[in-house]
Amino acid sequence: MTKAPLVHANGAAIPAIGLGTWRLAGDDGAQAVRWAIEAGYRHVDTAAMYGNEEAVGAGIRAGGIDRDEIFVTTKVWADDLAPGDLERSTEASLRRLRLDAVDLLLIHWPNSAVPLRGTIEALCGVKRAGLARHIGVANFTVALLEEAVGLASEPLVTNQCEYHPFLNQGRVLAACRRHGLSFTSYCPLGRATVVSEPVIAEIAARHGKTPAQVVLRWHVQQPGVIAIPKSGNRQRIAENIAVFDFTLTDDAMRRISSLARPDGRMISPSFAPAWDTAA
Ligand code: NAP
Repeated sequence: MTKAPLVHANGAAIPAIGLGTWRLAGDDGAQAVRWAIEAGYRHVDTAAMYGNEEAVGAGIRAGGIDRDEIFVTTKVWADDLAPGDLERSTEASLRRLRLDAVDLLLIHWPNSAVPLRGTIEALCGVKRAGLARHIGVANFTVALLEEAVGLASEPLVTNQCEYHPFLNQGRVLAACRRHGLSFTSYCPLGRATVVSEPVIAEIAARHGKTPAQVVLRWHVQQPGVIAIPKSGNRQRIAENIAVFDFTLTDDAMRRISSLARPDGRMISPSFAPAWDTAA
């Protein structure tokens, strides 16, 4: 069993590897969460939009650990960002998860049709009401992050964004560090595309690790970075957290980062903000 070290950010202590659960649902979803807990995971990422909060809650209970031992993140969907809607969405998530509070509540995507001030005030209110121990954002550009930090009366602890070796996120990472936030990498494996990359395969062979492990190590070896790989496979779930017993050289880190390319972004729906360019 591997335990991930904690990333400290604006008062939160977040395990550096969490289980991503998008597209995991029902009994399979619950089972994946239970396997993850058995493998040592103490961090699970879900969202109201994933339709799997019941399954994630069931998996946590089946994992047989104390509630306080696991860090649970959920998210409010972009249609629910108006004051009132945000609180209702959070309460519904807690009912589905069967939890009194989540460890982290995120705005899932910015929504330019809803004033950010009201959303951030509602998010801070949910924290003060005790429904979320920490709050943060996802898919926020540098400009949006700066605006959110300026509006928030409670600390924001993470910005969850797409990040993998094919996508340069230097500007957003720098903005997170400037304000003391962690950066949570979603699609950390580039949805499995990274495993067939020759440079990564070569580095993996040298360390006796798999390509996925090398990429996850590349994430967590960057200061303030957390990764949430998704897997529904018991062996790969365990593989993805076993990344704390080796270190990549500075040269290997640079070679992996240099795989970034202008068309590397995989997730950009029509309602996405105007993304920052590469650093
Ligand atoms: P990902 O974690 O980069 O990749 C998942 C894919 O990689 C799955 O097909 C999985 O297949 C495969 N995989 C996992 N471990 C592997 C390994 N060791 N070797 C080879 N293949 C492996 O992509 P993602 O699921 O899109 O992103 C991760 C999580 O981030 C999501 O589940 C979700 O929680 C979060 N997310 C958030 C947002 C947002 O807007 N905030 C957007 C997207 C995702 P198997 O299941 O078969 O192992």
